[in-house]
Amino acid sequence: MPVSGLPPYDRSNIFARILRGEIPAKKVYEDEHAFAFHDISPQAPVHVLVVPKGDYVSLADFAASAPAETIAGFWRAVAKVAKDLTLEVSGYRVLTNMGVHGHQEVPHFHVHIFGGRPLGRMMPRADD
Ligand code: AMP
Repeated sequence: MPVSGLPPYDRSNIFARILRGEIPAKKVYEDEHAFAFHDISPQAPVHVLVVPKGDYVSLADFAASAPAETIAGFWRAVAKVAKDLTLEVSGYRVLTNMGVHGHQEVPHFHVHIFGGRPLGRMMPRADD
């Protein structure tokens, strides 16, 4: 059973196919816990996705199911990728979309790293 409002993991999702090398990606970083690559439709000058190598649908699934070592390794990789992209001084944003209201399109847990320009408010306000 899924741990959240998302369906069970489907190994045909696009990020699973990237991890298996079946379709290309512009790789930024890889270690035992994570794989990072440029988003195909960047929303900022730097827009990189970081995915765990295991079969996790969402953050909810990852937090509930992944071993603690995997969770720590994954988040360290996220911070390392941002640092390696020289975003630490200027700053950056990390975001994950979860489920329907989060507008999650790809059902393999992933984190977006945005940077390279001032990113504005976290969420637009109604009067913006
Ligand atoms: P989300 O709404 O959080 O599921 O975002 C999915 C992201 O995956 C979007 O920003 C897409 O542009 C990105 N994306 C979809 N297909 C690919 C691909 N083949 N390579 C790189 N990024 C992709």
